[in-house]
Parts: sequence; structure tokens; C-alpha cells
Amino acid sequence: MKTAYDLLVIGAGPAGSAAAIRAAEAGLSVLLVEKRQEIGAPVRCGEATDIETAERFMPVSPRWALHPVTSYAIFNARGESVVVPPSSPTLIIDRRAFDLSLAERAARLGAEVRVGTTAVGLLHEGGNGSGAVTGARLRGLGRDVEVRARLVIAADGVESQVARWAGLKTIPPLADYYVGFQFTLSGLAGRINPDHCEYHVGATSIAPGGYVCVFPKSDDRANVGLVIAASQARATSAQAWLERFIERRYPRAGVLSVVAGGIPVTGALKTMVTDGLMVVGDAAHQADPLTAGGISLGMIGAELAVQVAVAALQRGDVSARALREYDGLWQARFGKMHAALYAVRKILTRMAEADFDTLVALGARLPLDTMSHAELITQLLKAHPALLLEARTLVTTGLLLK
Ligand SMILES: Cc1cc2nc3c(=O)[nH]c(=O)nc-3n(C[C@H](O)[C@H](O)[C@H](O)COP(=O)(O)OP(=O)(O)OC[C@H]3O[C@@H](n4cnc5c(N)ncnc54)[C@H](O)[C@@H]3O)c2cc1C
Repeated sequence: MKTAYDLLVIGAGPAGSAAAIRAAEAGLSVLLVEKRQEIGAPVRCGEATDIETAERFMPVSPRWALHPVTSYAIFNARGESVVVPPSSPTLIIDRRAFDLSLAERAARLGAEVRVGTTAVGLLHEGGNGSGAVTGARLRGLGRDVEVRARLVIAADGVESQVARWAGLKTIPPLADYYVGFQFTLSGLAGRINPDHCEYHVGATSIAPGGYVCVFPKSDDRANVGLVIAASQARATSAQAWLERFIERRYPRAGVLSVVAGGIPVTGALKTMVTDGLMVVGDAAHQADPLTAGGISLGMIGAELAVQVAVAALQRGDVSARALREYDGLWQARFGKMHAALYAVRKILTRMAEADFDTLVALGARLPLDTMSHAELITQLLKAHPALLLEARTLVTTGLLLK
């Protein structure tokens, strides 16, 4: 490991590796560090992602691409469902192999990749924690080293500390933070359809302020995960809610693995840069504020960040002012849509379970594949006029204008 690079990327999840790939392609010298001993493990993910984004970073490979998702069914607590196609072609992946393949690609393009290496502090221009970020202190293999970088990208995920060290406000309110718990279950043959993912929603009987998802990995195995708003988890934990669901729906299933994790669902931070530092992925709250899917969004965020970073490094100006273009690019691409998805989550959170049940029952009878958004919304408003008030939020955020 050298002691100076153009770019230091902290965290080798999808966002960090995507940043390293794009930066190496642009000819920058890159160091990508990961605190875990092994990239991608343990897996904290339902393992569904949008194929088009993945494909722009590496060729699709059977090593990590398991099978396509042909439909999503959204269930109410009474067991009725609305079936919709994915909004973009989606794959179930082996997330461990996916993350590893991305990091390998970055390495093949010339990035240096170091696992078991934790960023433990930032270096600053002025010393004493003041001035622009100029690198980081890294701890690995029993020693500490100071690595200088012309620019640092924080891709350290939901537990991100790096952005906070740099003075950015990253702690989400509890109501905008999902806590997640997930089992990989086996023995599900005949009880799942491998190409068909499920969401189960029920504010009082399934997952308050969240949902359960069932993402099949084969015809016998599925990731069955639950997220609830952290503000709801005090009364009954995410694990307890999930166990109740599994007892009802998949009794006697085998448990192959268990993961717990969190996801900020605020929509992206308004400020994702400071002097000498940019933030990407979950660390920048780039996950979808409704479903919490964050793999492809983090990778796109990384791509936008590096696009701005390369130009800034060429000009020799990595001040916050120069890097702020990244905030603008993100907002232009996802700002309205994420504000709308955030508003939809808030509406669902406030909605009584019985009202949601009615909407799903109605949706189950509608020809969704041939209906326009406007027709669908008209039908839903007829069934549930109180939504009219809520719809104002969506109009102002742009969802109904699309
Ligand atoms: C239960 C659950 C299910 C989910 N299911 C899906 C899904 O099906 N589809 C989807 O798109 N998204 C899903 N998500 C969200 C998705 O996993 C994240 O959005 C995605 O991993 C974000 O990628 P990232 O690279 O920003 O962060 P991460 O993948 O979290 O990577 C950050 C990396 O930084 C490392 N790191 C942290 N601190 C340091 C440090 N100081 N020094 C060095 N390294 C450090 C971490 O070890 C980690 O490897 C799920 C999340 C959870 C919790």
C-alpha cells in the first residue's frame, strides 16, 4: 500500500466498489479499503437488484446472477394481493458474490483493494481536525498508517462514521430509519414461486410502518425479511414481528441464516460533500425511501460522485463549492421521485390497516397491466376518498404529474 493516492474510497459495498471502478476507469490512482475480513460477508440484504445498473459496471455472470424476478405481489393482511411487474428488469443475486465481483473488477482496472482495513479517523489540511479532508488513518493487520488522498469518498454504509467525522449531519430521525431483520428459510418448496417476489403490508398485524418481503433464491429457499420504522421497534422488535409472520405463513421452515441491519429512508442527504470529501450509498441515505432498496441507487450515486470528482481533480479544486455539483446531479435525477416515494411511505404509515386492505382488494380486481397511472389513481380515490387529501402531497412532490 502506498501512502498517497488521488482517491481513497472507504467501504467496499456496492457503492464503494462502483466508485472505485469509475475512478480507476478515469485513470485515477485509487485505494479501496474495507474493514471486514471478507468482501460481501455477512450478507445483509434481500438480494434483489435492478439488472441494468449492475450490467453497466460488470458483465452479468452466473456467479452472482441467480434468476430474474417476473412479478411482485403486494399482499394485505387478509391474504388478497395485487400483482405488478417490476418497474425495471430485476434479478435475485448472490450478494456475497456480487460485492466480491464488483471489488474484483475495481482491482482489475487498477484500484488497490485492501480488506481487514478500517478507517479510524480523517486527516485534515489544518491538523487538529480542521480544514479540508486530506486522507485518513487506516488500521489493519496490526498497524496504523496515514494515507493521503486528494479526495476521500465515504462509502461506509449505514453505520457511516466517516461523514460525521467530516462534520456532515447523517443521523436520521427514528421514524425515518428502518430496522430490518431477515431469515433465509429452506423447506419452502410448493409454498413459494421462485420468480415471484412478495411484499406483505399490515400496519397492526404484520409490520408497523414497514413490510415483510419474501424474495425466493430457488424453488425451496427464500430470504424472508421485515423492516419496521425504528420508532415502532421499542414496543415489539423487528425479530418478534418477523417470527410471528413466519409461524403463520411458513411453519416448520428451516432457518439457514439470520441477519439484522438498518436502512435510513429519509431520501438522500441534502449535503453530501464537504471540502475534500464526498459521501455515497447508504452513508448518504441514497436508498429508496419507500422500499429501502439501495444497491443500484448507491452505485448510481457513486457514479455521479466520481463524475464530479474527476472534473474537480482535473481543475485542482476539491472544495465543497466545487463538489456541490454532485448534490445537484443527484437531486435532478432522483429528488422529485424520492420525495414522492417518501410521501407514499408516510401515507401508508398513517393509513389504517382496514383501509389498506380495501385498496389491495380493489387493486386485485383491476386490470393493472393495461391501466394508466391516472386511471388507477382515480379508482383508488373513489374507493378511499380520504386519499384525496393525502394526494395533495404527491401532487406537490411531482408523483402525480409524471
Ligand atoms: C435486511 C436488509 C435487506 C435489504 N435488501 C435489499 C434488497 O433486496 N435490494 C436492495 O437493493 N437493497 C437492499 N437492502 C439495502 C442494501 O443492502 C444497501 O442499500 C446497500 O448495501 C448499500 O450499499 P453501500 O455500498 O452504500 O453500503 P454497504 O453495502 O453497507 O457497504 C458499506 C461497507 O463499508 C464498510 N465499512 C464501514 N465502516 C468502515 C470503515 N470505517 N472502514 C472501512 N470500511 C468500512 C462496511 O463493512 C461495508 O462493507 C437491504 C438492507 C437490509 C438491512
